[in-house]
Amino acid sequence: MNLADIKTVENLLKSKGFTFKKSLGQNFLIDSSVCPRMAESFCDENCGVLEIGPGFGVLTAELAKRAKKVVAIELDERLREILPITLGEFSNVQIIFGDAMKLDIAKIIEEKFYDCESVSICANLPYYITSPLIMMLLEKKLPVKYITVMVQKEAAERLCAEVGSRESGAVTVAVDYYSKANILFGVGRNSFHPAPNVDSAVIQLEIRKTPPIKLKNEEFFFKFIKACFAQRRKTLVNTVSNTLGIGKDKIKEVLSLCGLSETVRSEQLKMEELASISDSLFRK
Ligand code: SAM
Repeated sequence: MNLADIKTVENLLKSKGFTFKKSLGQNFLIDSSVCPRMAESFCDENCGVLEIGPGFGVLTAELAKRAKKVVAIELDERLREILPITLGEFSNVQIIFGDAMKLDIAKIIEEKFYDCESVSICANLPYYITSPLIMMLLEKKLPVKYITVMVQKEAAERLCAEVGSRESGAVTVAVDYYSKANILFGVGRNSFHPAPNVDSAVIQLEIRKTPPIKLKNEEFFFKFIKACFAQRRKTLVNTVSNTLGIGKDKIKEVLSLCGLSETVRSEQLKMEELASISDSLFRK
């Protein structure tokens, strides 16, 4: 079954009475070149793939052709009767119905992929959970090699921005701390059905074995980073003071010790500079 063919999709919709739910970010891929490219960017015959949001299974099928095993998590119960039809030819695919934000992903990886040489995560992500889902996957420090996901073009630019550039934000720092991130290719809005109002891009996060910097306290660093970007128009002194309740004089003193101006903005700082400030502000 060619799931990237609009006629096939329309026939399925009609025969099962399926209607797209905007609230679940249901824009399904109908461009036959995109899913093979995503799958080929990281799959091999010994790897396991955890997919989030298979929809009709258009990406799942391309992953199943190239990987040892695919486990896909889908929230929409209405797909229970559709996925066995669309993916019936693949014996290496298993679907778990549930919310990817709530399920124990570490346990799923441990139980399902014990016989795979490596595990990667792949998805055409529902846009409403892009950043929280990526943050959740990174913070859990899962034993995965790559996270390859389709996201909105603007989100791709922010997630893969250089720390210290105008596009960077708290999520950019987290992505760079846990992985090496790259935009693989852009995907136009007409590659989806129904077509969204924005273009997309596929990004790939190659998970680091060790972080690029050594921190006194990782938990405090991420609290500090969230505070740094909480009020984007304000200077670092003001946003961190307002958000974490640390005195402005203390922050100015730390900035001066780090050789930085007291009017500096968080998006102007490199990872090492952010780490030095965080380490100096951290109190045991
Ligand atoms: N993979 C398909 C494709 O590329 O055409 C569908 C992608 S569509 C953008 C997003 C999918 O994620 C939908 O099938 C939607 O039902 C599912 N989804 C939305 N929220 C979810 C969640 N919290 N957990 C798991 N799946 C979710």
